[in-house]
Amino acid sequence: MAGRINEDDIRTLRERADIAAVVGDYTSLKRAGGRLKGLCPFHEERTPSFTVDPTHNLFHCFGCDEGGDVISFLQKIESLTFPEAVERLSRLSNFPLRYEELSPGQRKALGRRTRLTDALVAAATFYRTQLEGPDGEAARQYLAGRGLTRDDAQRFGLGWAPDRWDGLVRHLAQEGFEHSEISDAGLATIGRQGLTDRFRGRVVFPIYDAGGKDVVAFGGRILPDVQLKTGPREGQPPKYINSSESAVYKKSHTLYALNWARSEITRRQVALVVEGYMDVIALHRLGVRHAVATCGTALTTDHFRALEKFAPRVVLALDADAAGFAAAERARSLAEEVGLREVSVLPLPEGRDPADLADEGVDAVEAALHGTKTAVEFQIEHLLRGADTATPEGQTATYRATFPLLVRLPDRVLRYRYIRDLVAPAVRLSADRIEQELDAEVTAARGRGSAPAVPEPAPARRAPGDVTGGEPSDPQLILEREVLRTALQHPQLLPSAWKLVTAEDFRAPLSRTLFEAMSDVQLEDLGAVLAALPDDAMRSRVRALAMSESRVEPDAGHVAELVARLRAAAVEREVGSLRDDMTRLGEQLGPEDRRRYVTAFEELERRRRTLLEGSDH
Ligand SMILES: [Zn+2]
Repeated sequence: MAGRINEDDIRTLRERADIAAVVGDYTSLKRAGGRLKGLCPFHEERTPSFTVDPTHNLFHCFGCDEGGDVISFLQKIESLTFPEAVERLSRLSNFPLRYEELSPGQRKALGRRTRLTDALVAAATFYRTQLEGPDGEAARQYLAGRGLTRDDAQRFGLGWAPDRWDGLVRHLAQEGFEHSEISDAGLATIGRQGLTDRFRGRVVFPIYDAGGKDVVAFGGRILPDVQLKTGPREGQPPKYINSSESAVYKKSHTLYALNWARSEITRRQVALVVEGYMDVIALHRLGVRHAVATCGTALTTDHFRALEKFAPRVVLALDADAAGFAAAERARSLAEEVGLREVSVLPLPEGRDPADLADEGVDAVEAALHGTKTAVEFQIEHLLRGADTATPEGQTATYRATFPLLVRLPDRVLRYRYIRDLVAPAVRLSADRIEQELDAEVTAARGRGSAPAVPEPAPARRAPGDVTGGEPSDPQLILEREVLRTALQHPQLLPSAWKLVTAEDFRAPLSRTLFEAMSDVQLEDLGAVLAALPDDAMRSRVRALAMSESRVEPDAGHVAELVARLRAAAVEREVGSLRDDMTRLGEQLGPEDRRRYVTAFEELERRRRTLLEGSDH
C-alpha cells in the first residue's frame, strides 16, 4: 500500500541517516577529500568510481550512473519499495516513524513488514534458547557429530525447533504477536489443531537478507534416525524444509549465507554456490567463506542477479552426472540472461557433497576449487565420457553432439580452444576440421537467428554538447559547466552578481534547464534542486556534476570571475547577433540605423569590460 509515513519524519530521517554507514555495509569506503569513494556495489569495477557525499547524503557512481539518496540506495540494492526502504532505514538508524491519519487497520498493514521481521527475530531467539536448553540435547549431539562447536552454532545462529505442535506459536503469542502475524511470517500453518508450528523437531538455520540485518526465513533439518512425535501419520517427513514465502521472503531471490559471504565474494570476485546449509557452514568454518546456498530451490535469474552485484563469476558445486549436466545447462542460460561473465563448475565425486570435501580439510577444498571447469567444459567432458569413440560413425556423432554447446560461445578463439583441447583428442580428429564444420554451423545458426545474442556494450548515455556530461571541449560549455558546478557545490561562494544571471546567459539548453531548476529552490538543498529537474536522466547528470571533483578548490574571487565571464560571454553573443543583423540588412540600413547599431555596440562593449574588470577586484 502507498506510504502514509509522516512526511516530516521521512525528511528528518533522510537528513539524519548516515549514508556512509548504510552504504558501508555493501562496499568499503575510503575518504577522498570531502567525499567517500569505494567500489560500486551496482556494477563490477576495479577502480573506485562510486562516490558518497555525506554532506548532501547522496551517492553517485561515475561508472554506471547509478545514484540517489540514502533511501533510493536501499531501494535499489535490496529491491525495496519506497516505504519499505524508509522503514528499513528507520530501523537501521533507530529512528521511529510516525504513521499518519491511518485507521488502525491501515497502520497495521503499513507496519506489517516490520512486525513480521520482529516475529522472525523473536523466533530466532526462541530457537537458539531451545538449542541451549534441555530439549536441545539431541540436536546438540547431532551438530557435534557434524564437527560443529558451540561457537559455530552461535556464529550461524543455529537453533532447535522442539518436537511440539505449538511451542513457537505459544511463545510468540506471549510476546504479543498475533496469530496472523506468526503465520504471515511463514512460521506456522493453520491446521486442524489451530495454529501449528511449521518447524517441529528440527535443527533450524536462520536465513538473513543480504544486508545481514534481518532474519527473513528459516531452513530446518530433521535429526537422522529420530522418529518425530509430531510427524506425518504415514511416511517420513522431508529431510529439509523452509519457511513458506512471505512479504519478507522470496525463495527465488534469497541465498543462504550471502550476508556472511558477501565481502569474501567481492574479494575473490567469485561466488561458490552449493546446495545445503550444512555444506555452507562446513566450508565457512574452514575459511572458505564465499560459499552460499539456494534455499531448497533451483537457481533463478534473481539469484544470479543477487550474486552479480558482488562478483562476475559464479562456481556451482555439481555432481558429475546427468543431473549436473542439466543444472549446468540451465545455469548457463540464466547467466547469459543476467549478463554474468562466467559460470564454472566444481565437479563433485559421486555421492559426495561439499561438506564431505570439507571434512578432508581446507587444502582439499582449495585444490578442488582450483580444478573448477567452465560450465561448457564440464558439459563437454560429460558428453565425451559417455560417448562411443571406437568407430568413425561414433566419433562423428560425438563431436557433433558438442556443437550445440559450442555454438553458443560468442568467442571464436574460445570455441577453438575447447575443440583443440577437449573434443579433437577424444575423437582423434584434427581440430581444424572440426572447427570448419562448427563455423558453418555457427553461420547457419546466426542466419536462423537462433545464435545467442552477444551482449552489446552499453550505449553512451551522454549527448554531445552536454555541459553536465564528460569533459566538453567547447570553451563556452566548459565555462557553463564550471559555473553550474560551483553553484551546486559551493553556493556560499556565489557573488551578489549571481542574482543578475539569467537563463539566457547560458547557451546550452541543458544548462538553462538546470539553471532554472536551481533558481526555484535553496541551492544548499541539493535534494530540492534534483527534485525540480524534469526527469531522471537529467537528475543523474546533475548529481554527477554536483559530486564531481573540481581541479582547484575555488575561492570567492575565482567564483566571481567565473560568473563575470559567463555574463560577459552572453554580452559577446549579443554583439555577435547585432553584427549578423547589420551584415544581413547591409544596404537597407540608413545612416541613422547605423549610428544606433554603433551606439549599441559601444554600450555592450562597455558592459562587457566592466564585467571582466569588476571581477578582478
Ligand atoms: Zn556503478
